[in-house]
Amino acid sequence: MIGRRRTSAPVAAAPGGATAVVRRERPPVIELTRVVKTYGDGEARVFALAGVDLVVRRGEYVAIMGASGSGKSTLMNVVGCLDAQTRGRYRLDGIDVRHLDEGQLSVIRNRKIGFVFQSFNLLPRSTALSNVALPLAYAGVPARERRAMALAALGLVGLHGRESHRPAQLSGGQQQKVAIARAVVTNPVLLLADEPTGALDSHSSYEVLALFDQLWRAGRTIMMITHEHDVAAHAERLVRMRDGRIVSDERQVPASPSLAVPAPAGVSSAGLAMAVTS
Ligand code: ADP
Ligand code: MG
Repeated sequence: MIGRRRTSAPVAAAPGGATAVVRRERPPVIELTRVVKTYGDGEARVFALAGVDLVVRRGEYVAIMGASGSGKSTLMNVVGCLDAQTRGRYRLDGIDVRHLDEGQLSVIRNRKIGFVFQSFNLLPRSTALSNVALPLAYAGVPARERRAMALAALGLVGLHGRESHRPAQLSGGQQQKVAIARAVVTNPVLLLADEPTGALDSHSSYEVLALFDQLWRAGRTIMMITHEHDVAAHAERLVRMRDGRIVSDERQVPASPSLAVPAPAGVSSAGLAMAVTS
C-alpha cells in the first residue's frame, strides 16, 4: 500500500465536456480535503483546524502565515504525518495516510518528507556528517553510500570541510544548513519547514532563505511556516490562516535570489517582493 502511487497526472477538462482546453497539471504532493482537527471535548473543544482544503502541487513553494493560535503548527503536524486529523482526508503524494499505523507512518515520513525546525534538532554528540546520514541509516542505505550521499548534501549547502564538526562547533546558520542537508539527503517529495529562520540572525537568515530559493529552483516542493513577511516573500504562494481556516491563498512574485543578499540595516526586502499576481 505504501508504495502505490497514482501514475496519471490529473487533467482539467473544460466545463461542458469541451476538450479544446486541456491543461496538464503537476501532481499534488499535499491534498487536504475538509480537514478538521479538534482538541478536547464538549465545551472545552477547540477546532485547531476547522475545515481546511488545500492542494500543493509538485514544485510549489508555499508560505503559511497566521497569528499565534491560528492552526499553523496543527496543519504542519497533520501534513508531516506527526498527528492525525479528526475528520476529512489527507493524501501525501497520492497516499491516504489516515489508516496507516505508527510504523508505516514513520516509513512515510522518512521517505517522503524532509523536516526543518526552528531549533535545528540536531544530535549534539554526532558530527555534521552523522547527523545528515541518519535518515539514510533509517532507510537502510549501506554505510558507504550513506557517507557519499551525506558528503554531497553537505557540499550542496556549502559546508565542505565542516563534516566532522559537532553542532556546538558550528554557528546557528551552519547548524540550520546541516539540518537542511539532512532534510534533502533522502530526496523527499516535500520539504516542511517550521520557522526555519526564527532562531537566526539576519545574515544567517538570508543565507538559509537563499538555500531554500536554490532548492526550490532545483524543483523541490516547499511548505514553510513563518510569521515574518520578509521570509514569506521568498515563496511563490502565500496562504494565510485564521481560527483554523485558510482565509486567503494568493500567488505572488517570489523575492528573487538577487534580493536574497543582506540588505543595508533598516531596509526591508518585503516591499520589493510582495507584489501579488493572480
Ligand atoms: P499556531 O501554530 O498557529 O500558533 P496551533 O496549531 O499551535 O496554532 O494551535 C491552534 C489552536 O489549537 C490553538 O487554539 C491552540 O491552543 C490549540 N491547540 C494546539 N495544540 C493543542 C493541544 N495539544 N491541546 C489542546 N489544544 C491545542
Ligand atoms: Mg505554532
